Amino acid sequence: MTTEIDTSSPVLVTGATGYVAGWIIKELLDAGATVHAAVRDPANADKIAHLDALAADAPGTITYFRSDLLRDGSYDEAMAGCAVVFHTASPFTSDFTDPQRDLIDPAVEGTRTVLESANRTPSVRRVVLTSSVAAIFTDAADGAEAPGGVLTEDVWNTSASLTYEPYNYSKTLAEKKAWEIAEAQSRWSLVVINPSLVIGPGMQRRPTSESFAIVKQLGDGTMRLGAPKVALGVVDVRDVATAHIAAAFRPDAAGRHITSAENTTILDLGLTLRERFGSKYPLPRTPLPKFLMVVAAPFVGRDRRFVSRGIGVPLRLDNSKSRSALGVTYRPMKESLEEMFEFMIEQGYFKR
Ligand code: NAP
Repeated sequence: MTTEIDTSSPVLVTGATGYVAGWIIKELLDAGATVHAAVRDPANADKIAHLDALAADAPGTITYFRSDLLRDGSYDEAMAGCAVVFHTASPFTSDFTDPQRDLIDPAVEGTRTVLESANRTPSVRRVVLTSSVAAIFTDAADGAEAPGGVLTEDVWNTSASLTYEPYNYSKTLAEKKAWEIAEAQSRWSLVVINPSLVIGPGMQRRPTSESFAIVKQLGDGTMRLGAPKVALGVVDVRDVATAHIAAAFRPDAAGRHITSAENTTILDLGLTLRERFGSKYPLPRTPLPKFLMVVAAPFVGRDRRFVSRGIGVPLRLDNSKSRSALGVTYRPMKESLEEMFEFMIEQGYFKR
């Protein structure tokens, strides 16, 4: 079921240079919308070339605005006249030194900055926030402890902290801040999308999303001796974009939405890729023993506790609300993963 996009007012997308944002912008431009793209550096032609190319082939138009999550008021100009705001900007990286400065502050203060602009902008009616399942749980053991062993939109992450998986902490605090600001007013409504690990093809030349770093480790030999049987959910980036569009333009959309196609494991991602790419790339074929995984965890950017609490524990993320309320139909993981790997090969990710 497709959602009709209202093109009568401009639409703001924060973090427009990002992986997820690119596919949201594609849907908007294809529908003829006027997109206000908030980016940190509009003069960086390399970062916006793919968006210009999309606009050149579509009926919609795109205009860039210089904005930074850490600069109060810097989204005001970009938001002027917009009825809908997609707030996707937030750091998603394991490459940080100070979790407070590098993850929490941009996520939480950034959400405050954007939503305070919404409070000052009379045209805004709907804000769609890109949160994450990271705001719902940290590790598979959290999932097992959820009511009935199933993670739904009713569950909030209570285990992440500044020292334990701070990215999850940043997303939890940011989403809580968003609900607090939304509930203190009544002109605009907040709808939240909570994707699991986003996979599928990218658009930009040098993607920064951690999604690419994770899939790179499967194909570059990092996991040639084995991969962790750590559970996770995955979802195609184009289905995440479709969920955002429905969240923005369906009048009755409300609340949080887990967007996740399949519950799988890191090892299963590797085994799936092996079927097509195994003869050319050192993809994992076996599970890494638990003791080795715990030792290796910091070398692949994970917390030891995350690995020891996550190994061998199945995960059950319930995506039924996104299917019924937003009309999302999910692509199979294999298709998304293969298309992502092909994109990464073309981009030179695995050149030695
Ligand atoms: P991405 O490609 O790295 O996009 C992140 C965006 O945030 C970039 O456009 C980046 O701008 C912007 N940003 C970061 N810090 C900023 C700051 N201080 N001021 C302004 N903009 C800033 O990552 P992504 O995967 O598309 O992530 C987009 C959103 O989806 C994030 O909210 C992330 O938490 C969420 N999410 C992602 C996944 C996933 O698996 N990928 C899963 C669940 C949720 P620059 O280009 O200037 O750096």
